[in-house]
Amino acid sequence: MHYKRILLKLSGEALMGTRQYGIDPVRLKEYAEEIKSITDKGVQVAIVIGGGNIFRGLAGASNGMDRVQGDHMGMLATVINGLALQSALEDEGIETRLQSAIKINEVAEPFIRRRAVRHLEKGRVVIFGGGTGNPYFTTDSAAVLRAIEIDADVILKGTRVDGIYTADPEKNKDATKFDFISFEDVLKKGLKVMDTTAFTLSQENELPIIVFDMNKSGNLRKVVAGEKVGTKVNL
Ligand code: UDP
Repeated sequence: MHYKRILLKLSGEALMGTRQYGIDPVRLKEYAEEIKSITDKGVQVAIVIGGGNIFRGLAGASNGMDRVQGDHMGMLATVINGLALQSALEDEGIETRLQSAIKINEVAEPFIRRRAVRHLEKGRVVIFGGGTGNPYFTTDSAAVLRAIEIDADVILKGTRVDGIYTADPEKNKDATKFDFISFEDVLKKGLKVMDTTAFTLSQENELPIIVFDMNKSGNLRKVVAGEKVGTKVNL
């Protein structure tokens, strides 16, 4: 495999499948199978999971809720998703550990970098819940942060579109896809890959990002094998 240690970012919304809210068990199982296809090849896999299928702090704030309170709810939502993903992975026979950025010791290990790396070396999938543990951040920022901390080769952002386009492909038929694009060009062209905080952190640390369609069976394995799938953002 081309990449030995990856950080896979999955949004909470991805777990909804065709639902409007919550977790679709069918989708969860599909993702677990995709992940198994790469752990079987000896790839070390860490995952950061979002919480948007359950709660977003910003949505709470727009309804008058205190933003920090809402963000705490969002972080807890990512732990719920992490537990669901952990279950699905274990059903596939994969050893896993869930580490949380907020202390919730009966439910998940605390985030300890050296311990996370040790788990990866032993072939366990490590799921990072709780985002960065701080309000006003996103799980994209958590994904970049953890990827740097564990020295991942690449961030794989699994989405429902198959890469980065010149314009939103769901709205503009003439939009074309990039196979490769530089960090600088993403910023210059005002393209949306991750929020600015997350994106800049990745750029500063020269950590490539690959955006790809996680819902297409076999794609994750192809990306990890170094095949030309999705869009790669590099220096
Ligand atoms: N969140 C936070 N700090 C973090 C990560 C997440 O406060 O470091 C909260 C925030 O309210 C966010 C919610 O958790 O809206 C869910 O995360 P995100 O929106 O990134 O999930 P995704 O869009 O990937 O499903």
